[in-house]
Amino acid sequence: MRNVAVIGGGLTGLTCAYRLIQKGFAVDVFELQDALGGLCRSFSFHNEKIPYSPHQFFRQDLYLLGLINEFSLPIYWGTSVAAIYDGNTNRSFRLTSPTDILNFSILSPIDRLKLGLFAARLRLAKITGEKYNNLSRENAASWLRRETNDTICRNFFEPLLFNKFSIPLAHLSAEWIATRLREELGTGRVWGYIDGGMQSLIDELESRISLHNKIYTSCSVRKIQIERRQVRAIEFVQGKKLEKKKYSAIVSTVPIPQLLSAVDSFPADFQSRMSSIDYSPYIGAVILCSQKLTKYHVSYYVNSDIGGINEFTNFYRRHEKHIIYVFKYLNNSDRLWDKDDISIEAAYRNTLFRAYGQFRIDRMLIVREKYASPVFGINYPQAVPPIVTPIKGLYLAGMFSVYPKERNLDSAVMAGEKAAEIIAKYN
Ligand SMILES: Cc1cc2nc3c(=O)[nH]c(=O)nc-3n(C[C@H](O)[C@H](O)[C@H](O)COP(=O)(O)OP(=O)(O)OC[C@H]3O[C@@H](n4cnc5c(N)ncnc54)[C@H](O)[C@@H]3O)c2cc1C
Repeated sequence: MRNVAVIGGGLTGLTCAYRLIQKGFAVDVFELQDALGGLCRSFSFHNEKIPYSPHQFFRQDLYLLGLINEFSLPIYWGTSVAAIYDGNTNRSFRLTSPTDILNFSILSPIDRLKLGLFAARLRLAKITGEKYNNLSRENAASWLRRETNDTICRNFFEPLLFNKFSIPLAHLSAEWIATRLREELGTGRVWGYIDGGMQSLIDELESRISLHNKIYTSCSVRKIQIERRQVRAIEFVQGKKLEKKKYSAIVSTVPIPQLLSAVDSFPADFQSRMSSIDYSPYIGAVILCSQKLTKYHVSYYVNSDIGGINEFTNFYRRHEKHIIYVFKYLNNSDRLWDKDDISIEAAYRNTLFRAYGQFRIDRMLIVREKYASPVFGINYPQAVPPIVTPIKGLYLAGMFSVYPKERNLDSAVMAGEKAAEIIAKYN
């Protein structure tokens, strides 16, 4: 039987491992952290599993839904109501339906109408399945300016999307933003969530994989050994011991910068293509309290130091405590990353107290992800990591594989399954 190593125990790695096992391969999974799940892992609080970030999905996430249904996991479908919070005026504006857009007083009546028409065009694009391939070389700022106008861009899209991604619109790919807006606006207000959270799916995958195959946790893969352009083995550290194990195929699902530090013999052109991929770090927070701050599910912030909040229990009411997620993506030069958790906690508290008044926080946890998302800049289409690499037996799969789709759970499952299919074909 051919043996495969899967590096990374996030959703991509576990899906890939599970599908490979179904196809008759022997698989070892290597995960750096002490628990599986990667970006969708959870922590325990009073016998409840609470995700570090909420992880919801849409009805069109067919790869993810296929896997959830295969394990008969119950899905909660709920209504999401979104708002914009403006830090300058300390006001929230509901922004979910066409009527909300018409009442959105940050913009002039004519601009609201223009924005409404643009939203309607995106909804139509979702129905007709319009692709945005013609935008692959354009930046998001120039496209949004063309689709709406200068003031809508300056007063709405730029502050909103900069607050969300910490990257100027002119540096983001129009194709990616268009696809993302089409998906979010075209989907309507119904969002899905696995009852019990993503942890239920991760646990199912773990129990099936570990039945006859090995999962190494707290285990750092240091090197992928390559000889004559073919994979041979991986070197990994578990505890303090450096070990080595041979494999005929290796799937890396770790962020690209971590892959590059484990491989020293990629051909120069491939190395430079992969090195051009940047990542956005993320510093969020999970807040457990007893008080609602708003009646909305998600509030996107403008003119503020955070990207927004997801008042998760306004959407999913089955947790004992009220759960609020603060979200904030950074750019690579953001100094916030160097601040300690105590200062970040204090800053986030102040922002929320300023917006909603003082409230009692039972627990607040700062969540850091150094590689939260690849930056889908204007050059990303030329860089997208391929599943099959120039090194024989080395495959790449992850949220970075699927473009211009949003990097999400669905793309993780899709990439894991595609990699398994390709490996089965070649091995
Ligand atoms: C804040 C946030 C909120 C999100 N919300 C949503 C949402 O609501 N809906 C949605 O669909 N998607 C959401 N996503 C995206 C989703 O989390 C990801 O697309 C998905 O989890 C990616 O899975 P992955 O396995 O590709 O990557 P990861 O989860 O990053 O897995 C990679 C794994 O590799 C491990 N690893 C790294 N280096 C090594 C090494 N040297 N040796 C061994 N292991 C290593 C890491 O520890 C990690 O577990 C969100 C992401 C973030 C950051």
